[in-house]
Amino acid sequence: AKSAGRNTFRFFAPILQVSLDEQARLENDLREAVRRQELLLYFQPIVDEAGNTICAEALVRWRHPERGLLGPAEFIPVAEKSGLILGIGQWVMEQACDQLASWSLAGHALRVAVNVSARQFRQDDFVDQVLHALRRNRVDPRHLKLELTESILLHDVDEVIAKMAVLKAHGICFALDDFGTGCSSLSYLQRLPFDQLKIDKSFVHDMLGSQNAATIVCAIIGLAASLGMDVVAEGVESEQQREFLATSGCDQYQGYLIGKPMTAEQLALRWLPELDS
Ligand code: C2E
Ligand code: CA
Ligand code: CA
Ligand code: CA
Repeated sequence: AKSAGRNTFRFFAPILQVSLDEQARLENDLREAVRRQELLLYFQPIVDEAGNTICAEALVRWRHPERGLLGPAEFIPVAEKSGLILGIGQWVMEQACDQLASWSLAGHALRVAVNVSARQFRQDDFVDQVLHALRRNRVDPRHLKLELTESILLHDVDEVIAKMAVLKAHGICFALDDFGTGCSSLSYLQRLPFDQLKIDKSFVHDMLGSQNAATIVCAIIGLAASLGMDVVAEGVESEQQREFLATSGCDQYQGYLIGKPMTAEQLALRWLPELDS
C-alpha cells in the first residue's frame, strides 16, 4: 500500500506541475494580450418579434498569435481567477461604448449589451467606471445594457441593488443572464430591478425534446411577464424553436438562427438597416 501511494504521488505530481505551468503561462500571455491589443469584440444580433436588430451583445475574443482566435471559455476562467478580468472588463466596456458611439453617429439606434462578471461588478468604483466610459465616448446611457449572472447574488444583495439603482437612474438597463442555471432564490428576483431575463441556451436546446425543459421555458416567460420584465431567448438555432418561443410569449431572440457572433463591420453590413444619408 505504501509503494502504491508513492507511485500515485509520482504519477500525479508532474501532471499537476504542467497544468500549473500552463496556467501561469496563459496568465502571462493574457496580461501581454491586453497590452498588445490582441483582444477584440464580436457582436451577436438580438432581434425583436419582427426580426429587427434592437441590440448587439458584445462577446470578447482573443486573437492569439499562435493558437488563432480563442473564445472566452479558453481565457475568461483564468482572467477571473487572476484578477485580470478587471482590466479586461474595463477594456470591454470602453470598446463597447466606442462602438456604440460609431453606430449612434451613423444613425443606428440599437443597444449594446455588455457582460459583466461578478468580480467586476463588486469593485467599489464600478458605477463610476461605467459612467466615465459612457461620457468619454458621448454615448446615451439608454443604449447600454449590462448582463449580470445570478453569481452576483452570492454577495451583499443590498449593495447590488444600490449600484443597479444608480446606473438605472442614468437610463442603463439590466438583463439577468443564464437565468435558471444558478441557484439563486426566486425571492431575490422581485427585489432586483432587472429589465430582462435571458433564458439560458441549455433550456432552449432541450425544450422541443423534453417536456420538462419546455415547462421551464414557459414558466420563465410567465414569471418574467408577471414581474414586468422582457424575455430574451438565447441559443435559438432552429425555426421550430423560434416558433415555439414566439407562441409562448418570448419577446427577443438571439442565436445562430438569427446570426452568429461577428465583427462590428459585418453586423453593420448585414444586420443594421440601410440609412439614407
Ligand atoms: P453568454 O453571455 O451566455 O453568451 C452567449 C454565448 O452563447 C456566446 O458564447 C455565444 O457565441 C453563444 N451562442 C450564441 N448563440 C448560440 C447558438 O445558437 N447556439 C450555441 N450553441 N451557442 C450560441 P461565447 O462568445 O463563447 O461566450 C461564452 C461566455 O463567455 C459568455 O456566455 C459570457 O459568459 C462570457 N463572456 C463573453 N464575453 C465576455 C466579456 O466581455 N466579459 C465577461 N465577463 N464574460 C464574457
Ligand atoms: Ca451574456
Ligand atoms: Ca447567457
Ligand atoms: Ca411578451
